Amino acid sequence: MTAPTTSRGGTRPGAGVPGVDGGTPAAPVELRLDPAPTAMVWTAPGQRHEAVAVPTVVLAPGDALVEVELATVCGSDVHTTRGDRGAPAPLVLGHEQVGRVVAVGERAVAADGSALVPGQRVVWSLTVSCGRCASCDRGLPQKCTSVLKYGHERLVTGWELSGGFATHVHVRAGTTVVPVDHELPAELLAPVSCGTATARAALDAAASVVDLAGAVVLVLGAGLIGLTASALATDAGARVVVVDPDAGRRALARRFGAVATADPTAPAGSDDDVERALESAGGAPLVAVEASGSPHAVASAIDRLGTGGVAVLVGSVFPAPPVPLDAEALVRRLVTIRGVHNYAPRHLVEAARFVEERHGAWPLHELVGDVVALADLDAGIAAAAAGGSVRVGVRPA
Ligand SMILES: [Zn+2]
Ligand SMILES: [Zn+2]
Repeated sequence: MTAPTTSRGGTRPGAGVPGVDGGTPAAPVELRLDPAPTAMVWTAPGQRHEAVAVPTVVLAPGDALVEVELATVCGSDVHTTRGDRGAPAPLVLGHEQVGRVVAVGERAVAADGSALVPGQRVVWSLTVSCGRCASCDRGLPQKCTSVLKYGHERLVTGWELSGGFATHVHVRAGTTVVPVDHELPAELLAPVSCGTATARAALDAAASVVDLAGAVVLVLGAGLIGLTASALATDAGARVVVVDPDAGRRALARRFGAVATADPTAPAGSDDDVERALESAGGAPLVAVEASGSPHAVASAIDRLGTGGVAVLVGSVFPAPPVPLDAEALVRRLVTIRGVHNYAPRHLVEAARFVEERHGAWPLHELVGDVVALADLDAGIAAAAAGGSVRVGVRPA
C-alpha cells in the first residue's frame, strides 16, 4: 500500500492530552490511506461478513496503526459466529494476529517502554486497559473496569479497525505491544496474542502452586492452548499426558511433548484409557490444565488430581451446564482450582519469546493449516469450525 498521508491536530475536540513533561499537549494524528483499510464486519449468526472501507483513521496519543500480515481464527470467533455466546453486533472479529506498524500517535510505546516506530513487526494484547483502576493495580489488566477487547466490541465511529479480520488494526493506548522477530513465518506469530499467551498464563497459575519439574501434568483438550501448554510444561521438566477424543490431535500432542495420550471416550483398561496413560507417566497428576471447556473434562481434571494438586480451568469460555463438586474430596486432597481468563502483559512477552526461541524444538508451524484470503473469511471460519487444522489463517494481501 502507499504511505499514509498524515496531519496533526484537532479533528476530535478535546482529543489532545497534556504533555507528561508539562510541554506541548500531544495531538491526534489524522491518517488518510489510499487504498482505504478494510474491515470485515460481522452482524449476526448465519449472516456473511461485509467488507467496510475506513479511509480515515485518527490516532490519539499512544495509538498505532498496524497493517495485518496474518490473523488466525480462534475458537471464540467460531463460538461467536455460531451464536453459542452473546456478542455486541455489528463488530469486527479477530484477536490473534501479527502485523507491521505503519503509523504511530505521539508517545506510542512498546511493552518495554521503547518508542514504537513504523516498520516494526508486532503482536499485541487482546485487551486495552487503563493501567490505573483497582483491577489493573492488582495485576489483572484483562479485568480493567474500562477494558476494551480487540475483536469483541460493537463497531463505533473512530475505532472501526478494532479486530484482526481486517487489513489494518487501530491499536490503542493501553495495549501491550510486543515487537517480534522479522524473519519468522507469520503462522508462528499470529496465535501468540490469544492462544499462546493464555497457555503461558495457565502454566504460570499452575506453577504458583506446584513445581512443574518432575510433575505429571494432565492436559485436557489438544487445541492450540492444550498443545502449547504441553510443550511449555515439557520444557519446564514435567511429564505430560494429553487427553483428546481425536486421534489426529493425540498424535500431534506426542510431537508437542506428551509422553502419553488418551481418549476420554475409551473404555477403562483399553489402550487409550486415561488411567492407563497416567500410570505410564508416573501416576496421579499434580497439575491438570482443562482447555476444552467440556463439563465432563472439567470434572475429570478435578477428580483425577493427586493430593496438593492444582486444576487450572481455561477452556470454559462459553455457557455450559454446571459441574458438581465433591467438596469433601477437595478438602481432604488439598486441591486448588484456578480459573484463568486471558492473561497479563508479561505472559504475552513470554509467549512471543517462547515462539521465537522454541519454534525449532516444537512443530509450531503445523498449528496453522488452511489459510484463506480476507474476502473469504466466512469460508475460513467454517473451516475452523470443522476442526481440521488447529488454526485457520486469514491473510489480507
Ligand atoms: Zn482467542
Ligand atoms: Zn484499568
